[in-house]
Formats: sequence, structure tokens, C-alpha cells
Amino acid sequence: MRGTSTGGRAADTRSLYFHSEVTKMKGPCVVIGGSGFLGRHLVEGLLQRDYVVRVFDLRQSFHDERVTFFLGDLCEKQPLLQDLIAALTGATLVFHCASPPPSSNDRKLFYRVNLLGTRTVLQACRECGVQHLVLTSSASVIYEGKDIRNASEDAPYARRPMDYYTETKILQEKEVLGAGRSKDGPLTVAIRPHGIFGPRDPQLVPVLVRAAQKGQMKFIIGDGKNTVDFTYVDNVVLGHILAAETLKEGSPICGKAYHVTNDEPICFWKFMGQMLQGLGYEPPRRHIPYLLVYSFALIIYWLCVFLSPLIHLSPGTFTPMRVALASTHHYYSCENAKRDLGYKPIVPLDEAITKTIKSYPELHHRSH
Ligand code: NAD
Repeated sequence: MRGTSTGGRAADTRSLYFHSEVTKMKGPCVVIGGSGFLGRHLVEGLLQRDYVVRVFDLRQSFHDERVTFFLGDLCEKQPLLQDLIAALTGATLVFHCASPPPSSNDRKLFYRVNLLGTRTVLQACRECGVQHLVLTSSASVIYEGKDIRNASEDAPYARRPMDYYTETKILQEKEVLGAGRSKDGPLTVAIRPHGIFGPRDPQLVPVLVRAAQKGQMKFIIGDGKNTVDFTYVDNVVLGHILAAETLKEGSPICGKAYHVTNDEPICFWKFMGQMLQGLGYEPPRRHIPYLLVYSFALIIYWLCVFLSPLIHLSPGTFTPMRVALASTHHYYSCENAKRDLGYKPIVPLDEAITKTIKSYPELHHRSH
């Protein structure tokens, strides 16, 4: 069921982002996965713009009297999807940013949440007459371990995705964008961020610090010249809100995916070095050959797969995908988001790194 979109085109400057008088949406919006890293920042961004916000998630990770929480599992076979239906009833806009963490190697879980759970979201949107759905996809849907330089959204999906996360993010994006092109679905758009970082991220900084503490961050894999995108979380939030506010019947963005980055590709190892130094650790300096590390990660991966019927082993963060991500060029053009959504990053990379480092005082090296 479709209706008219509310909300005007959003402004792209920082002061306007935080203090604009954007028209209130007619009904509440729902953030599925709103207790997660990105989801909670998105909730905060929406509240700053006077949206009425609900969260649907497995868990409640914070308290805010302005936010109504609905706890439930997208994968549960509920009669009539009752938990989700309760959250979506009366809503006009849904953001779907729930996903298992990429570090998991649980194929069934990825399929249940990212594919079947997303079908459930679409079904619930139809049943509740939700008109607008913004999906958090990932730029990794076009990544298969080879160099990507300034790719646009026209680049084909990865034919051989390197992990179940990527495989199911592709399926999820196809489902959502396909539904947006059908007559009875909600209007849909997908945002493809890359390398989200910022305060409260349970992944990048904590994983980096754990690796540094174990002495694993002394090494640069390969020649260390690969350029990548890292995107500050506030910029990703802005991309989502602009997409929601641009999504209306007849809009060119319907059924499309948009890369959202900081628009400042940076050498992967320079970024890691800056982060590590800011946290009081030495930056990596010694080079080790890419093929050696990649082959080793591949052997460990297959060992875990072969032994899985007998014992539970996990490669942790040392996966072929992670090694490839650390050693290849992969940065993405966000020109389409600038043109169609009016997107412009509001927090530049240097400031984003400083803010992030400051937000983890407990992870700073004690001797500094
Ligand atoms: P996160 O793990 O911090 O948050 C995900 C949230 O989804 C969690 O609160 C979790 O409880 C919830 N969730 C998971 N399974 C659920 C289920 N079955 N039912 C209900 N809720 C469920 O992850 P994040 O880093 O904030 O990522 C958010 C989204 O952004 C994901 O879709 C991810 O694919 C995408 N993304 C993240 C990055 C990144 O660098 N973090 C990059 C590109 C895309």
C-alpha cells in the first residue's frame, strides 16, 4: 500500500542537520536493529530531527523515554508475525538495519536473519501499510576480494561472495529493491555504507585494540598502499535520513541502492596507524607478503569447516575476507547519493578519527 511521502528534502550542512525544522513524519518510524551500533546512532539522529521513534530488536541496549521498544526476533515463526506487526502498526517509515555480526560464520543464522527475516519485514510492511522502507545494505555486496576503485552502484553483485555475510546481504538487497519495484510493496531504497566507525562501535576499535595487545598489529599485509573507505557513523545516519525523506512515489531513488561513504578514501594502513597511535599503540611497520597471510587464513578457514562436525572452531577475525579487506583497494563513488539524495558528509575523516579515539578512554594504552 502506498501513500504520499512526508518530510522535505533535508539540508546538508551540519548545523541544519542537527537543528533543522523538518516536517514531522505523519506516523512514527521504526528502526529494526535500533539497539545496535548504527541503529542507535540512527535513533538519535531521528530524534534530533523530531521524528517519533520506535525500536524493534532482540534486545534493549539503552533507555530513552522518547523511544518505544518492541523486543522480538525477526526469525521467530510467530503467528501473524505478531511482535513485528505490533511495532509497525501505524508507522509510515521503517529502517531495517538488523543483521548478525559479519564476524559470525553461522551460515544458517545469516540466511534466517538477512534473507528470511527481511522477507518477514516486507510482509509485515505490507500488512501494516507501511509506505517507506530504507534498508541498510553494504558496499561489500560488490566485493569479491579483488581491487575496487571508485565503483558506482552499477557494478555487478559479487558472483563469488567471500563469506555468508556478503552472500546474504546480496540476497537481502535484491529482495528489498525488488519489492520496491512491485505494485503492492512499500517504496524501498538501500543504503550501502562501507567501514562504519564511531563511538560505541563494538567492532573496529575494540578488535583493533585486542589485536594490538596481542602484538598482531605490528605487521602490514602486502605493500600497504591499498586505499579504502571508512565512514563515520553520523554520515551514514545522514545518508539514511536523506534517503527516507527523498523516497516518494515517482522519485528516481525508488528501488535503487546508494553508496554512502566519507568521500575521502584513505590508505587502509594509514587509517589503522592513526587509530592505533591515537589509542597509544605503535602503528604497524613491518611488511609480510599478502599471499602468505591469505593462504594461511584460507587453510585455517577450511580446517574450521572440515572439523565443524566434530568440534566448534572459529577463525575469529582471521578470515580470508578480512585479510583481503586489509590488502586490496576498495573504495566506492558516492556521486549518485550526492546527486539524488543531496548527501554530503558532515564529519570529515580527521575529525571523525579524533572523536572516535576520544570516545574510548577505557581502551587507551595505560602507559600513555
Ligand atoms: P550491530 O550488530 O551493532 O547491530 C545489529 C542489531 O540487529 C543488533 O542490535 C541486534 O540485536 C539486531 N538483530 C540481529 N538479529 C536480529 C533479529 N533476528 N531480530 C531482531 N533484531 C536483530 O551491527 P551494525 O554494525 O550496527 O550494523 C547495522 C547494519 O549495517 C547491518 O545491516 C550491517 O550489515 C550494516 N553495515 C554495517 C557496516 C559496519 O561497518 N558496521 C558496514 C556496512 C553495512
